[in-house]
Amino acid sequence: MAYDESNIFARILRGEIPADRVYEDEHALAFHDIGPQAPVHVLVIPKGAYVSMADFGANAPPELVTGFFRAVARVAHDLGLEEGGYRVLANHGADAGQEVPHFHVHVCGGGPLGRLIARGG
Ligand code: AMP
Repeated sequence: MAYDESNIFARILRGEIPADRVYEDEHALAFHDIGPQAPVHVLVIPKGAYVSMADFGANAPPELVTGFFRAVARVAHDLGLEEGGYRVLANHGADAGQEVPHFHVHVCGGGPLGRLIARGG
């Protein structure tokens, strides 16, 4: 799938639309999810044009992969989630319900999260 430069996270990265930002560095940007599904629900996106987990894993340069996942861990730490625990989740493709075609991970925490897998819906 070709990267769509008009997707909503690309627009946030370019500063065209606002987001409730919590962290930014050269590799990644983190902001609160607009429809939180946990007491704390933040999205972390890489600074690069990657559609999905598969695209990012296969095509991102190693320094971006490393920098991105360091940023994910740092965001969880900075949000105070390390002690209580948190979940990192990436949806890839239709069966997972990926809505936005710019690779992102969800960082959820702030209380018990329940079971990992929900089917159907
Ligand atoms: P996914 O289903 O993994 O693609 O998740 C996309 C997520 O992006 C959903 O949890 C949405 O609530 C969230 N989202 C969509 N638009 C925005 C936005 N403008 N700012 C913050 N979060 C958003």
